[in-house]
Amino acid sequence: MTLEDKCNKMTDIMAAFIGHTTVRLPDDVISRLNELRAAEDDPAALSIYDMMFENIRLASELGRPSCQDTGLAQFRIDCGSSFPLLAQLEEILTAAVKKATEETPLRPNAVETFDEINTGTNTGTGAPSISWNIVPSWDGCAITTYLAGGGCSLPGHAAVLMPGEGYEGVVRFVLDRIAEYGPNACPPLLVGVGIANSVDTAAQLSKKALFRPVGSHNPNEKASAMESMLEDGINKMGIGPQGLGGKASVLGVNIENAVRHTATLGVGVSLSCWTHRRGKIVFSKDLGFNTDTHAGFTYGQ
Ligand code: SF4
Repeated sequence: MTLEDKCNKMTDIMAAFIGHTTVRLPDDVISRLNELRAAEDDPAALSIYDMMFENIRLASELGRPSCQDTGLAQFRIDCGSSFPLLAQLEEILTAAVKKATEETPLRPNAVETFDEINTGTNTGTGAPSISWNIVPSWDGCAITTYLAGGGCSLPGHAAVLMPGEGYEGVVRFVLDRIAEYGPNACPPLLVGVGIANSVDTAAQLSKKALFRPVGSHNPNEKASAMESMLEDGINKMGIGPQGLGGKASVLGVNIENAVRHTATLGVGVSLSCWTHRRGKIVFSKDLGFNTDTHAGFTYGQ
């Protein structure tokens, strides 16, 4: 197979996978929504969950996006240093987003800033957004996809706190943001929190946290305890599914952390909604693939 053939093959698979994740939510999100519905007894909340599951069923049966806002594509790449298409990945993902926009179809959401022109392709300057991690001595490539909707991206916020505000300050920062903007972001929410040195590192980690599976925990015991504490606290706000009240307001809280300067305490918050369209696909060097987020996804296999 020529290099061009390999690029075309990976583009086709990625376009199909992006389209599939637009239509079908990841297995862990569906499973958590089932758990939340089973634990709910508020009639209004139960009817919202019923509508969500009807929405999931119809999207799957009709092959249509699970929400009219199909978001903007963001990718996290963990690519082996010897993956054969490493140098072509950005071009491949850009072509895949354009193809998925036409074929799924996805709503064109990419507006060039200053020019204020919708590109029509969900690509453009800096889009799709890609964060990179090169894995030494590996010839495969793992790509996590995320379609960031407007309503759940709006509450995103980051700041650098005085270190004296401590972890209580971090909790207050997160809870204040959720109280103000959470109900409009189509809960139950997945809450990503980044704690680090500066505003940019904290914000990036808060988005990385959204790429982790629902129900996963930070390996640091204290960070994991804060995840549980924030989850309890946000649930006690009583926001409920779609903000109409109920026992659960979140799918979960994921924290990612890094070192901070002695004089700073950076904190970032990113939210995702109940249609948390995250997918993960892992390619081998010969472009075989598997996914642990969407059981049953096939393309030419
Ligand atoms: S927040 Fe999520 S569910 Fe709500 S409109 Fe946006 S993408 Fe759709």
